[in-house]
Amino acid sequence: MKLIDIEFPILAFVDIETTGGNFDRDRITEIGIKTLANGQESAWECLINPETFIPQNIQRLTGITPDMVADHPSFDELALQIKKELEGKIFVAHNARFDYGFIKASFKRLGLDFRPKVLCTVKLSRLLFPQQARHNLDTIVAVHDLTVSARHRALGDADLLVQFWRVCEKTVGQTRLLEAVRQLVSHVSLPPNISQSVIDAIPDSPGCYMLYGEHHAPLYIGKSISMRSRVMSHFQSALTVRKEMKLSEQVHHIEWIETSGELSALILEAKLIKERMPSMNIKLRRSKDLCAWQLSQGTSGCDKPTLITHKHLQPGFQANLYGLFYNKREALGYLKAVAKKYQLCEALLGLEKVDEGKPCFGYQVKQCHGACIGKVSLAVHNLKLQTALQPFKVQAWPFAGAVAIQDGHSMLVINKWCYMGTANDHVELDVLAQSEDLNFDLDIYKIVKKAITGSHKTHLVKLPSTQETTASCDAME
Ligand SMILES: [Zn+2]
Repeated sequence: MKLIDIEFPILAFVDIETTGGNFDRDRITEIGIKTLANGQESAWECLINPETFIPQNIQRLTGITPDMVADHPSFDELALQIKKELEGKIFVAHNARFDYGFIKASFKRLGLDFRPKVLCTVKLSRLLFPQQARHNLDTIVAVHDLTVSARHRALGDADLLVQFWRVCEKTVGQTRLLEAVRQLVSHVSLPPNISQSVIDAIPDSPGCYMLYGEHHAPLYIGKSISMRSRVMSHFQSALTVRKEMKLSEQVHHIEWIETSGELSALILEAKLIKERMPSMNIKLRRSKDLCAWQLSQGTSGCDKPTLITHKHLQPGFQANLYGLFYNKREALGYLKAVAKKYQLCEALLGLEKVDEGKPCFGYQVKQCHGACIGKVSLAVHNLKLQTALQPFKVQAWPFAGAVAIQDGHSMLVINKWCYMGTANDHVELDVLAQSEDLNFDLDIYKIVKKAITGSHKTHLVKLPSTQETTASCDAME
């Protein structure tokens, strides 16, 4: 019986040495490529001048010193040659994200596109030798008794991968190996612990998706109008973006919630992030200490800001509110910054106590223009204060009662900037419109404010309220 020779694609076993682990900051110092075509091996290697400093610990690990690379060409000078070496071959590397990511980033800086098929030998080892606990290169060398020529040098490590490949061929046979390659190459951009079927199950429609790590620890929550594509784009950019790489390595489990449209997804995202506090989201802060400045005219004719704390805050109903701030400290910091920028008097703002008729401390250090001692009129001081606070004016709720905003096939009910719920029919709509369960959330306020003045303005229906509805509800600005 004759053995059928299977035609293998051409493989380029690649290893690089770098000045560190950061795609953006660090540079390649050496590339080694072993090509395997029709059973024949060939080698290519080059030291590269990184044009940046090589840390001591890296020099010790690789043995590559600044002197060794000083007279060598830079990546830019070698780029076309490297591209030619890799073109039309499957890019094989151990923990391929690293080597591929670095080379891709280096090409990208030159405006060159680089998208080979990629095969990771960590994944190959995991697939073919699942009983093995670890799959790092040292373990593979030990387990399969590979011959080490130059560990931590590019061509030396690339050679270990070729040896590993030969072991695979011998152990599982060409047919099984080719099958494994096909399986792994097509899933190159997937994280190690996520399978294609998980991705396929995510609907490509609006909603929020949640990425979890080991033991169901929430890692990241995001929203999109097409969830599957968005989730995939996280994993694709894992090859070039450090934060996405970290996310990809940690993710074990994906969940999602479909929504009727984009606005619902935005609101849901803000709620979910607060509830589950995923470790890799920029924290949306809780609204329990919210406060704002209220401007009122004092007896002396001087406008004075008073801090309205969460308990007394009714965003949407109170006039002359400026903020909102997450806590008292932030509110004070803002007012002090405004005072400094506009050279207002901190004594008149209530930030400093002085005796009647005495100049404030700011006046003595030329921070205050002197409204405290009549050098500047109170009218001017008031006007400057109003102008300074204007960008932070809290918009009053412009309707008499609740409104419904069409989002896809559902209606979002909003009242006094608070999200009341989502209605799918008239009964639900009525119940939500009459609800008194107002929970103000600053992030949702910002989302709703943008929506009712922007793209959703025309999809808005005013709902009848239980209270009298005679007040004008056309005060939208
Ligand atoms: Zn003053």
